[in-house]
Amino acid sequence: MTASAFLPYGRQTIEDDDVAAVAAALRADHLTTGPTVARFETAFAQATGAAHAVACNSGTAALHLAALALDLGPGDGAVVPSATFLATANAVRMTGAEVAFADVDPETGLMTAAALRAALARGKAAGLRMRAAFPVHLNGQLCDMAALAEVAADAKLALVEDACHALGVANVGACAYSAVAAFSTHPVKAIATGEGGVATTSDARLAQRMSELRSHGMVRDAASFEHRDAAFDDGVANPWYYEMPEIGWNYRLPDVLCALGLSQLPKLARFQARRREIAALYDTLLAPLAPVLRPVPHGKAPHGWHLYAVLLDFAALGTTRRRFMEALRAQGIGSQVHYGPVHAQPYYVRRYGALELPGVAAYTGRCLSIPFYPSLSDDDVRRTAKVLADVVAAGGRA
Ligand SMILES: *Cc1c(COP(=O)(O)O)cnc(C)c1O
Repeated sequence: MTASAFLPYGRQTIEDDDVAAVAAALRADHLTTGPTVARFETAFAQATGAAHAVACNSGTAALHLAALALDLGPGDGAVVPSATFLATANAVRMTGAEVAFADVDPETGLMTAAALRAALARGKAAGLRMRAAFPVHLNGQLCDMAALAEVAADAKLALVEDACHALGVANVGACAYSAVAAFSTHPVKAIATGEGGVATTSDARLAQRMSELRSHGMVRDAASFEHRDAAFDDGVANPWYYEMPEIGWNYRLPDVLCALGLSQLPKLARFQARRREIAALYDTLLAPLAPVLRPVPHGKAPHGWHLYAVLLDFAALGTTRRRFMEALRAQGIGSQVHYGPVHAQPYYVRRYGALELPGVAAYTGRCLSIPFYPSLSDDDVRRTAKVLADVVAAGGRA
């Protein structure tokens, strides 16, 4: 890459052995569900400390499978922080349940126990049976799961971790405090399969349910067949026979993509180590730009380092986020906003009315994700920091 190559905010790291793994999968017997799916699931469970992993074709599908397996439905409510991707809230709505949006910490963007309690009270006041909460490990920084679990235990809520930003943090996926953790293997995430996702759980029954729901709700286990006459001939199960006790989806992750995931997984530790190095370099290089530009505060706790986000005081700079992003882009630096407030989307405003969440407004109004992925060189990082310093010095203009 030349020094002036455009740097996006995120990108996949695909190496020659990944390409070879996919090519081999293309020549194998199964393009869709074959033996590689189970191998990928086993490896993913091992990598995350999970008892069970269910591969599916997106992080959104993983969240939806979790919501379905918990039997969320009409009349139920689930708490979702509004500073997240659309999919976290949509997964709840896709079951017919309603979303109670939670506020977040204005500095970290994370849902706190107090914010969970407030959203819970709002949901109950709206007449919903509050059944679940979906904490989001935004940017890779972990929510205080112990504190959230305490609130959840009092209110009899199931927790589903949106861990799409936190793959690679030790024991995220082991579900010590949650029913399910949902991961994405979209290209900008920690490892890539193109589209893809995984739901992990320590509950064998939830795992079984999610794997059935991922494939049309089909059951092939003869012991659980309901229609005995159709299922058996002289006590022997008919070989073509399957049953659908409840409706499911086609959320399967094909063998070809599982082969890519299997090739990527062993690289996770290396990718994460490089992400930590880059984050430390940014921390140092950007420190002089405070207080108008500050990295999202992150402390010493384990961090998934999915995104490197900074908080900007656009008013003090005398500019807008659009102009600031355009000034970066003019110098070859990509950036992105993660995220706009989900509760302010037209669909949700029409459904729930306007809602004031000051922490969400403060965080989502100031955040900006800058180039951050394992294949960035130290020079790329230094160039990005220099452009940021120049644009800040120029009052946020090109
Ligand atoms: C990427 C992402 C999702 C959805 O994942 P897809 O694989 O794109 O469906 C959900 N939540 C968060 C926080 C994400 O970053």
